[in-house]
Amino acid sequence: MIRVSDLTNFLRCPRLSYFRMNNPVEMPTELKAAKEIFLSLRKGFDYEWAFNRFNVLYPDSKEIFISASSKFVFSDELEKLTPKEWEVHLYSDKLNLKGVLDELHERSFLLVSLRMPESGIAFRDKIKIGAYSLLSKLDNAYIYYCYDGKLINYRVNRRDKYNAIRVLEKVKKISGGVVPERKEIEYCSRCEYTDLCSNTRSTFASKFL
Ligand code: SF4
Repeated sequence: MIRVSDLTNFLRCPRLSYFRMNNPVEMPTELKAAKEIFLSLRKGFDYEWAFNRFNVLYPDSKEIFISASSKFVFSDELEKLTPKEWEVHLYSDKLNLKGVLDELHERSFLLVSLRMPESGIAFRDKIKIGAYSLLSKLDNAYIYYCYDGKLINYRVNRRDKYNAIRVLEKVKKISGGVVPERKEIEYCSRCEYTDLCSNTRSTFASKFL
């Protein structure tokens, strides 16, 4: 089943999405550390508890956790929302899509992101929101920019869900074996698949992605 993160990987780099689906490598990131901090603080625990959780999944990644915790801001605004559940696993057999929601409320859901771009909510966050709206059947979303301490309420519209489905269609082709073309981007210099990527040829069908 395709994960919501496969859609956002696709937007960063279609090849990255291909490799993460076919050769998964669990990498620690600041976003993953920030999510552990968010979940721990929301549940009434502390930073130490968050580190314990992170450390179980990613031993030897203390620097990443320290970096995330030095930037993390916990806003009082969050107290306005009453969580019903955290880390909610959602599935849709019809869409062949699954994902884990950070926080679920009675009539809304919340996703954690790092920083809000000056131009507003990034397209990749809107795709994520659209996908979770399709999975949860809720149109009222919150996005918590944890490095800014900013809580944004967002009404999901039809275009967001439509765009999420369009990206899903492309990712479905990749999951079916289409290897996208390589395009040099800034992320290539820190990509975990650099070697594999240099030695993998794209398939002809990638021209129709
Ligand atoms: S090395 Fe670059 S092109 Fe290849 S998968 Fe990584 S980000 Fe994509």
